[in-house]
Amino acid sequence: MLRKRSYALADQLQEALGEQGYRTTSPRRAVLQAVAGQERHFTAEQLREQLPKVGRATVYRSLRLLVDSGALCRVLLEDGTLHYQLSHHGHHHHLLCVECGSSQDLLGCDIEEQLHEVSAAHSFQLSGHWLEVYGLCQDCQPQ
Ligand SMILES: [Zn+2]
Ligand SMILES: [Zn+2]
Ligand SMILES: [Zn+2]
Repeated sequence: MLRKRSYALADQLQEALGEQGYRTTSPRRAVLQAVAGQERHFTAEQLREQLPKVGRATVYRSLRLLVDSGALCRVLLEDGTLHYQLSHHGHHHHLLCVECGSSQDLLGCDIEEQLHEVSAAHSFQLSGHWLEVYGLCQDCQPQ
């Protein structure tokens, strides 16, 4: 069941790369399959450990392509480690639990307007923002 789902997901990832004009070589397909099988956010190194036969450059380049295509997003944990996870389309942020490491997507960001004002006050030309929100998920909050 899970296997089947991750195959379908790997196809979607392959499509996302295809739309950007990238061919899927067989090592890259192996990366896509491993990405699709992840239960939660993961590091590039964790992915590499699962793919001993795939070169380091291929793993990193595939991750970058997936981020660029919007299929994956980067997640910065509170300890400073960079993880990856499957992405919602469009702009969003993450609610990251510092206790169990769970991540929820936060859709409907409305801080852009505020940032435009602050930037204008500094004669700064805004090109974007990246925000992670840390705290305790519902399961980890003390009763
Ligand atoms: Zn995300
Ligand atoms: Zn939690
Ligand atoms: Zn935002």
